[in-house]
Amino acid sequence: MAIIQTEAIVLKTFDFRETSKIANFFSLEEGKVSGVLKGIRKDPRKFGSSLEPFSVNHIVYYRYSNSDLHLISQCDMRSFFLPIRQDLKRALAAHYMAELINRMMPSEMKNQKIYHLMIEFLSTLEVTDDIDRLIRLFQIKALLFSGFRPHLDACVSCKKKVAGKARFSMKEGGLVCPHCKVHDQTHPISPGTVATILHAEQAPWNDAQRLQLTKTVRDELKYILNNFLVFHLGKKIRSERYV
Ligand SMILES: [Zn+2]
Repeated sequence: MAIIQTEAIVLKTFDFRETSKIANFFSLEEGKVSGVLKGIRKDPRKFGSSLEPFSVNHIVYYRYSNSDLHLISQCDMRSFFLPIRQDLKRALAAHYMAELINRMMPSEMKNQKIYHLMIEFLSTLEVTDDIDRLIRLFQIKALLFSGFRPHLDACVSCKKKVAGKARFSMKEGGLVCPHCKVHDQTHPISPGTVATILHAEQAPWNDAQRLQLTKTVRDELKYILNNFLVFHLGKKIRSERYV
């Protein structure tokens, strides 16, 4: 049994037995971890955190080798993101982030790029006046950092470069040129949208926030990224309808 200390973002909590709670965290050191906080409902002061979703906490836990449910011995709140909680639209976007990462990431696989991406997302969400763009940039980078970036460099069928009009295949996760046919759900994708995704993947976080997006690009990004994620995760994300 090892003792682990790490910063961690709350993804989800639920009641457990009479007095306890189980929390899913995304942690800096260990990726997604689940743990029991014994007695937290009977004595909320036992831990220095109310375990609000998307809050950042310092946690200490005993890691069991024969279970993926561990014992949290300490949990202290570090960041609460009050400006997000005071604004319904911002709060819904943060809940979406937590639900997406909970669904997308496997348990106990360290991924510090994803952790830092979540922190950058929350910090930007406190102040941005363009929540829609922020969500799309988060989706693009989360796909990249988790190893599921869409294939935009060439047609997924004939492997040739695609110039001009193309479609995006949800199942194949990439571009289909006008000469190829695939038997699944596709959606038109304009060169501007392809260029936006490629740029957003490469650009540092703060530079990506300055991307100017036309209405067409916004609409295509929303449809393609939301549907590609559903296809990839095999399940709809409940909070997606708010973003
Ligand atoms: Zn093709």
